[in-house]
Amino acid sequence: MQTIDNFDFKNKKVFVRVDFNVPLDENFNITDDTRIRAALPTLKKILKDGGSPIIGSHLGRPKGATDKYSLKHILPRVSELLGVEVEFANDCVGEDATAKAAALQPGQVLLLENLRFYAEEEGKPRGLAEDATEEEVAKAKKAVKESQKEFTKKLASYADTYVNDAFGTAHRAHASTALIADYFGADAKSFGYLMQNEINAVEKVLSDTQRPFTAIMGGSKVSSKIDIIKNLLDKVDNLILAGGMTYTFAKAYGGKIGNSIVENDKLALAQEIVNAAKEKGVNLVLATDAKIADSFSNDAKTGYAPVNNIADGWEGLDVGPDSEKAFAEVIKNSKTILWNGPVGVFEFQNFEHGTRVVADAIVEATKKGAFSLIGGGDSVAAINKFGLADEVSYVSTGGGALLEFIEGKVLPGIKAIRGY
Ligand code: AMP
Repeated sequence: MQTIDNFDFKNKKVFVRVDFNVPLDENFNITDDTRIRAALPTLKKILKDGGSPIIGSHLGRPKGATDKYSLKHILPRVSELLGVEVEFANDCVGEDATAKAAALQPGQVLLLENLRFYAEEEGKPRGLAEDATEEEVAKAKKAVKESQKEFTKKLASYADTYVNDAFGTAHRAHASTALIADYFGADAKSFGYLMQNEINAVEKVLSDTQRPFTAIMGGSKVSSKIDIIKNLLDKVDNLILAGGMTYTFAKAYGGKIGNSIVENDKLALAQEIVNAAKEKGVNLVLATDAKIADSFSNDAKTGYAPVNNIADGWEGLDVGPDSEKAFAEVIKNSKTILWNGPVGVFEFQNFEHGTRVVADAIVEATKKGAFSLIGGGDSVAAINKFGLADEVSYVSTGGGALLEFIEGKVLPGIKAIRGY
């Protein structure tokens, strides 16, 4: 396998899959450009060598071509950060893209329109009627898989080499993240710097684990994280669970949670997790107290309550001081730390304190020699908000990809390059 450092991109056209899926506000201003910045070392290396990057990315989850998810909105920032006037092809597989890719000179950069404007990127059928029969679904799936081959081949045809620097989508076997690699020989494909750094960071956590190993899981999406939590139970010594999922656990044990966020269909699973942690000897640390609010707003009236005794009309939006103390204690004594998801609604200044305490404790542990890996869009936004990104060991750009990798799954985007 090639590494990007060994590559000489002189006179090469390079299809670079990046993850420029950045958050935009209602006026299409980028609110956090971490993901663009993260791909700069790879793009700059290609330019420095005298190559020409052809950048492919997705943005959001469009159902087809739509202005809202056009990558043209981020073009000025990409140009500014790269210091090169980046060209734009307004259709990733149209004539425009083919002509612009063909005309590209060393040192020039082309950004392709959102790859997910085509269903072929993900290889999943779109626009199926809700009452479609199984047969119709199967036929549509087959059709999109067929046209996906042409789509992938077209993307591959623009370039001599392929570089995957999109860790955020490495867990997806999409056209541009995995399938395209088949069109390039072993010496004509590699990870970009970002991807390589992400892999190194995760492998340090998983294979070179210094104990105690503590995972802190927060956020609101209980359903999407609960399975990952189960898997982490086999790997960690301490598991801190906080954020919105706190209340699913509290309710599962008969707690009164007022209006707090909850997933009623996951109550049994919450109990299973508590039991599994006991069985496996994992120290499961759940929030015991909450900072409560009388509405989901920064200006809400606030108070504190045990997580299992919240009055109706009130909801837990952050952890309380007892939980903060307990979390910080565990974190500060850890040697390996994985953090995904804020422990409260950190976007509201009045409910950011718990998340800040977690971040500070991670920084302190890192100073004492722990390896700390922070991943997931919201934890990254939080650590950036607090200005602490440079004081932890590694800030991942991956959410789902990071967690699946931590679980020990083989990620298609990684396998496509290195074979495993
Ligand atoms: P996720 O995408 O699942 O990581 O969720 C991140 C979101 O969870 C953030 O936007 C937080 O504001 C939100 N969150 C954290 N704690 C709570 C809570 N107690 N109630 C509601 N939302 C929360």
